[in-house]
Amino acid sequence: MSLESVYGQVLNEHNLHPFHKGETEGATLMLEGKNPSCGDDIILQLKVSEDGTIEDGSFAGSGCAISQASVDIMLDLIIGETKERALELVGEFMNMIHGKATEEEIEDLDEAGALKDISHMPARVKCAVLGWHTLEEMLK
Ligand code: ZN
Repeated sequence: MSLESVYGQVLNEHNLHPFHKGETEGATLMLEGKNPSCGDDIILQLKVSEDGTIEDGSFAGSGCAISQASVDIMLDLIIGETKERALELVGEFMNMIHGKATEEEIEDLDEAGALKDISHMPARVKCAVLGWHTLEEMLK
């Protein structure tokens, strides 16, 4: 199996069976993110504790496979982490999408590394970064 089809599988899996779609009980932060050029429209919810740990999170809304899979993978990565660490991951993801990430950064992104090749598909970049942009806006 080629590496590319492994990446495709990761995206498919998250798109067909999103782990984090729905509502977050006791959410402390909520923000809508839109990508009009594709019609992606998500609402991100997070439950952040007083010490700044992201205890839980989810997303609602609709969009294309890339936007949905990307936000689901993102939530996998950031739940249980501090806000600072989540912002660090956003920075690494943005570097990757713009084709500037180091190998260490891509490794650090774990499953989100499956979206690496989006950097060669300018029309889809906005889909891939939607959830991450929304998260950054929420936490800053
Ligand atoms: Zn899209």
